[in-house]
Amino acid sequence: MIELAILSLKCIRCGKTFDFNVGKITFGNKLSFENEIFCQKCGLVEIEDLELTELGQTQVAELFFEKTK
Ligand SMILES: [Zn+2]
Repeated sequence: MIELAILSLKCIRCGKTFDFNVGKITFGNKLSFENEIFCQKCGLVEIEDLELTELGQTQVAELFFEKTK
């Protein structure tokens, strides 16, 4: 379990990218986040409405390796 990760995310609904503190990340078949995510434009968004930016994917990969090291 990883605490307080700030990730670079993209909202698929409006195409806006932003950094968000997602809280704890659970690595499973699919990533899940502790915190609810708010897009600055759309408000509360579901995880299905989000994708990781390239930077976000790098951040997640680093966190994952950190955790499994
Ligand atoms: Zn949005």
